[in-house]
Amino acid sequence: MLKIALSKGRIFKETLPLLAHAGIIPVDDPDTSRKLILDTNQSDVQLVIIRATDVPTYVEYGAADIGVAGKDVLMEYGGEELYEPVDLQIARCRLMVAGFANTIPHHKRLRIATKYINCTQRYYAERGEQVEVIKLYGSMELAPLVGLADRIVDVVDTGNTLRANGLEPLEHIADISSRLVVNKATMKMKHTQVKAFIAKIQEAVNQRNA
Ligand code: AMP
Repeated sequence: MLKIALSKGRIFKETLPLLAHAGIIPVDDPDTSRKLILDTNQSDVQLVIIRATDVPTYVEYGAADIGVAGKDVLMEYGGEELYEPVDLQIARCRLMVAGFANTIPHHKRLRIATKYINCTQRYYAERGEQVEVIKLYGSMELAPLVGLADRIVDVVDTGNTLRANGLEPLEHIADISSRLVVNKATMKMKHTQVKAFIAKIQEAVNQRNA
């Protein structure tokens, strides 16, 4: 059995055509079904529906063989037990520092609100800047508006959410897109099946971009 971990929403929708190219079609629709494990037309392939941030954990521990996760999630997770064989080039965005333009920060030591604690600490440490990182779980844009933080670190697509809140993208940290990740043990034990799957997905990405 090959288990593929996916999150609902954008990643699921954009991964479906790639899976279809590999001959995999889910039997249930995750938007209407409450099932967390979806059967597919292939008796030896199942889709495991989990939160985006949990995908690397499931794959690293071998509870799923393969997963699809954003580079932001992978950078934040930081595990070394995952292969990342294909850039699916979907759900593209940028990880950025954002805040009010042309204003002096309130706090002597810059305060950064983010759910990307590790990425943020790494980014400022590499620049030799001492900052205070505040963990939030959502709506990061609010933090500078109410004086909780001077800056935020978040993923930005169109920038509309920032602009609607009077904020601007200030510094680019990384380009983000979704990646196929594979458990290292799976790669060895199910080599033929996984290699064929990876090749099909890579082919689907190439054909879509041609
Ligand atoms: P934006 O188009 O910049 O207004 O993006 C709106 C919000 O959607 C942002 O605050 C992000 O939290 C989220 N977002 C945009 N693109 C992505 C993506 N590729 N992956 C995850 N979240 C995203």
